[in-house]
Amino acid sequence: MPHPPHQSLQVAAVPAQRGPVRDRDQDAPWHTEAVCRRDEAGLFFAPSKEPTAARLSREEAAKRVCARCPVMVECREHALLQPEPYGVWGGLTAAERRVVLARRRRREVELRSAASSVDQIRAAG
Ligand code: SF4
Repeated sequence: MPHPPHQSLQVAAVPAQRGPVRDRDQDAPWHTEAVCRRDEAGLFFAPSKEPTAARLSREEAAKRVCARCPVMVECREHALLQPEPYGVWGGLTAAERRVVLARRRRREVELRSAASSVDQIRAAG
């Protein structure tokens, strides 16, 4: 995490290979303002074999914490750029982040295609 919650839940769903990235990013200034440093750990990552209803409830609770966090935008971008594969970051679940990333990739492809078309038109003209 920006996440102390995320830190304290390393025993949960966060695989060891994410460690170095998290450790490095732990120095980012925005971490010091993370609301989740003061909140109940356990909200941000799923315990193993969590029932769906419990997961949805936990994720909503985590999102409520994120909603009052002053560094939500920075946290969300961090999680999208890494990308962080697990947990709630910046008010988004892992599944929601995958949707955002897929949209961004599609948008990049569209922009590249449009730029290529413009280049071709200029070259022909
Ligand atoms: S946005 Fe959520 S997960 Fe990110 S630092 Fe704030 S409280 Fe933690």
